[in-house]
Amino acid sequence: VNNKRRPLVAGNWKMNGSAGLAESMRSTFATAQLNKVDVAVCPPFVFLHALADANVALGAQTLSEYENGAHTGEISAQMLKALDCQYVIVGHSERRADQHESNGLVADKVAMALAAEVTPIFCVGEPEDIRDSGNLYEYLAAQIDAVVSHVGIDAFEHMVVAYEPIWAIGTGKTASPEQAQDVHRFIREHLAKNNPAVAQGLRILYGGSVKSSNAAELFGQPDVDGGLIGGASLDPEEFLRICQAAD
Ligand code: PGA
Repeated sequence: VNNKRRPLVAGNWKMNGSAGLAESMRSTFATAQLNKVDVAVCPPFVFLHALADANVALGAQTLSEYENGAHTGEISAQMLKALDCQYVIVGHSERRADQHESNGLVADKVAMALAAEVTPIFCVGEPEDIRDSGNLYEYLAAQIDAVVSHVGIDAFEHMVVAYEPIWAIGTGKTASPEQAQDVHRFIREHLAKNNPAVAQGLRILYGGSVKSSNAAELFGQPDVDGGLIGGASLDPEEFLRICQAAD
């Protein structure tokens, strides 16, 4: 593993959790001894305050593509910054599907996060039929290039990428360490064509049914720099074990 890349493990609660879970996450991590891994928790917006000053970084799960104004129900990048959010997940496959977020919209949101100095955790990943059809790399390149062409390659110095194969999310069907490594290497090499140094320093997280039992092997791959954890991040002890696997 490249020493330049400090691993990151980020928990994505999705539309789950409670003030009680925030409390137990806070107390579990208050005494955790972690040295080499960055940890972030991305709860629903309404629980962000409940994790303020906890021993984990804060992240949000999405943000508005607008700066402010008449956009009922939306949350801006500046608002996240004001709450001390260090990260924001952008382009999660559930939002691409449920909220019809296109590659272009995802690129706009990445730009908003960057402008507010909130680190985007930019998600890419293929549905199973794309993998089966052999168009995997083309599909991922289109997702990535939409963002590169909007914010520029140098912006990736202030970003994190998450590779989340859709068929592995919430299914218990994890990508094998080899499958993850192959795609992570592809992503890095693809970005390296634009700027090798930025690509080399970029943290690329794996997401999709990560558990404490498979985390160490996934995180041990040369181009896997941590994980984006859904279901397993709702159990503080289990989430801590996953963080320890990256430490
Ligand atoms: P999962 O979700 O760990 O529950 O598979 C990962 C994600 O969607 O970020």
